[in-house]
Amino acid sequence: MSYTFAPPAVVSVPVVGRADSFPVHRIYCVGRNYEEHAKEMGFTGREPPFFFLKPADAIVVAEAGQTATIPYPSLTGNLHHEIELVVAIGRGGRNIKAADAASHIYGYAVGLDMTRRDLQNDMKKQGRPWCIGKAFDQSAPIGPITPAAEAGDIATAAIWVQVNGADRQRSNVSKLIWNIAETIEHLSAAWELQPGDLIYTGTPEGVAAVVSGDTMSGGVEGLTGITVHVA
Ligand code: MN
Repeated sequence: MSYTFAPPAVVSVPVVGRADSFPVHRIYCVGRNYEEHAKEMGFTGREPPFFFLKPADAIVVAEAGQTATIPYPSLTGNLHHEIELVVAIGRGGRNIKAADAASHIYGYAVGLDMTRRDLQNDMKKQGRPWCIGKAFDQSAPIGPITPAAEAGDIATAAIWVQVNGADRQRSNVSKLIWNIAETIEHLSAAWELQPGDLIYTGTPEGVAAVVSGDTMSGGVEGLTGITVHVA
């Protein structure tokens, strides 16, 4: 097989304690999956989960103990952080039942669903797709993946992000409206999951803007944290 140009490199995420890197297939994201965040966005109550995607090459790897850098993106004056637990799928499938979901999970990581909030809000008002607000270049920082068996009790883990050392978001994974297993059940009814899929499971309350020069430090209890600087 020859190609018209060199195909892009495989996007991958390092795995804690392993030499092998996790190759990324797709990035799925869950919208409004913590009640207090749904409220701050002007919504209430439990609605069926909904999903959007980011391109795999939106990944920016934040290596353990290092500071990754993202550019301040174009077209926005309101770049928001959304700290999220990321689920890495190791075994694919469709119509996966919540009770079977754990066997499809490879591991977990800490991620940031960076959002051009002004553009997303414009698109919402006009009933247009969110892509320009969510799926832009370098919009998906992520830390190393911890294999599930080594991640502790992720379902009750604390989740937080600080900006320049001050708390912005602090909650607990137990407050997910749709838990990890339920999310996989819903998602796999809509798409056939593949090994390499990442699921950004949603963000708790406290989303807010960052500006050039800010540094975000995020974590989920039991996982390797991430530090990301906005250039
Ligand atoms: Mn999000």
